[in-house]
Amino acid sequence: MFYTHGTLDRADRLRRDERALTALRHDERTRLLPVWRGTVLVTGDDETDGGGASGRGAGGSGASARPARSPRLASLSHDVELPDGEAIFLGLVDGVAHFAVPVGALDDGARAALAARASTPDGNPRAATFEDLRVVGPTLPANEGALLAYARGLVYWSENTRFCERCGRPLASVDGGHVRRCANPDGAHVTFPRTDPAVIMLVVHEGEGDTPSRCLLGRSPAWPEGVFSTLAGFVEPGESLEQAVAREVFEESGIETRDVRYIASQPWPFPRSIMLGFEAAATTMAISVDPDELADARWFTREEIGTFGSWGDAAYALQLPRPDSIARFLIDRWVGGG
Ligand SMILES: [Zn+2]
Repeated sequence: MFYTHGTLDRADRLRRDERALTALRHDERTRLLPVWRGTVLVTGDDETDGGGASGRGAGGSGASARPARSPRLASLSHDVELPDGEAIFLGLVDGVAHFAVPVGALDDGARAALAARASTPDGNPRAATFEDLRVVGPTLPANEGALLAYARGLVYWSENTRFCERCGRPLASVDGGHVRRCANPDGAHVTFPRTDPAVIMLVVHEGEGDTPSRCLLGRSPAWPEGVFSTLAGFVEPGESLEQAVAREVFEESGIETRDVRYIASQPWPFPRSIMLGFEAAATTMAISVDPDELADARWFTREEIGTFGSWGDAAYALQLPRPDSIARFLIDRWVGGG
């Protein structure tokens, strides 16, 4: 699953060890990941990967071609001068400490100057630019995309959580950037990084006899023309995940479901969700779209989905969601036979 790291050690034990963190921050092997207004630093000139995605698309449904020169994670060495602000300890990758650094205060010129100091993880200088992870993510090596997503999510939380929600006083970063503490002298008000649970679900109507199985896909009015994807929505206070699935499907499409089954999850720090993936069995077929939520919703057979292109490929009338999304995973899984 995209945006999950295979080997990262979050090293929670070090977050409260100020001496160890200070030493790591200045260790010559340490890498810094700057985040500028939601964008992350990547190279554009990797020569070790000629591209050629293989096998992600099911049934010839249009695996997205990697550009000939795929971006790679770029970072800064420990001694690059940065604007004032806290560094957030992400953890250890192969024993090397990684910190996320909010640099959103830099203007365009200073941002470009910082990008000019970038290097590859092994310290070789390499031209880099700040890019939207939602655009470059699918073409990055999985662990690099995951590390950048983690950095982006924590920086977003840190930059947007400035004041105590209980008393309104300013918050300060503690525990390596994983806790923010209120200036209230009683010291008891702390806030932690927030993750909003969202359910995302493939609704399937099982076929009978000559009637093939179909799945329900909808399209948001905000997506490129032709993109259809799974339905999704946020979990509300006081409901179970299974109830959230059934409620969202009914609200958006009028379809009733049963047998809601958990499949997989995916961190989605865009800006701060976790997507909880389900499959549900439809007990009705008549679609009634909520126009406030969806532009359209339709039933598709596996064969029909096999003719879809990839997100943004206008050569295809109908297109699948982005290849880095759990929506795509759920659809590919069903098309491939579950
Ligand atoms: Zn407070």
